[in-house]
Amino acid sequence: MKKTPPRKPASRSSKPVAHHAHMRHADKVARPTAVESDPLYIVRRSRIHGRGVHAARRIRSGTRIVEYVGQRISHAEADARYEAKLKDDGHTFLFVVDDEICIDAGIDGNAARYINHTCDPNCETVIQGRRVFIEAIRTIQPGQELGYDYQLTWDSTDDPAELALYACRCGAAQCRGTMLDSEPLDKARKRKAAAKRKRAATRLKAAGKSGGVRKA
Ligand SMILES: [Zn+2]
Repeated sequence: MKKTPPRKPASRSSKPVAHHAHMRHADKVARPTAVESDPLYIVRRSRIHGRGVHAARRIRSGTRIVEYVGQRISHAEADARYEAKLKDDGHTFLFVVDDEICIDAGIDGNAARYINHTCDPNCETVIQGRRVFIEAIRTIQPGQELGYDYQLTWDSTDDPAELALYACRCGAAQCRGTMLDSEPLDKARKRKAAAKRKRAATRLKAAGKSGGVRKA
């Protein structure tokens, strides 16, 4: 039998609210919105890994479910923080926003950090105004776990033992066996640089044909 917790006494403080000078005040206190009183998701144990985020009710495809929040830090800071944590259990809370900023959801993060990777995602991540949002790409039924493809960045020179920590056990038929991006970062950079050189060469060639140097 479940124990019923003792009822909390009505929280009516007998103390008057202390007066503090120089504090900003809001104009009014809003009632909880529909979303707050009827949440889209709950965090509970996952079949994939640790804790996971599950639909609390039906979520339609295209719904913006939650923002990925946390401390916004530079890539250098992110490297410094997690370089030393090689014996990590494969849980990473870092999200790359762009070439300058990462979000470390290990600090000031919300439920979004518990959304697991899956190779058969029902969600995707969208960057808008340098913020990260998680949106449904399919209709998700109540109780189903939310997941998206982490596409974790890696280099071909990384220690294979370390990369093995990011093995995927999502159980999807098309599971690729890893949470890592299909292409290492260094190779992707080389490929992009080569493509850029090629485009530049083509432009030069075209400019040559049309008579060369552009006049100022
Ligand atoms: Zn998988």
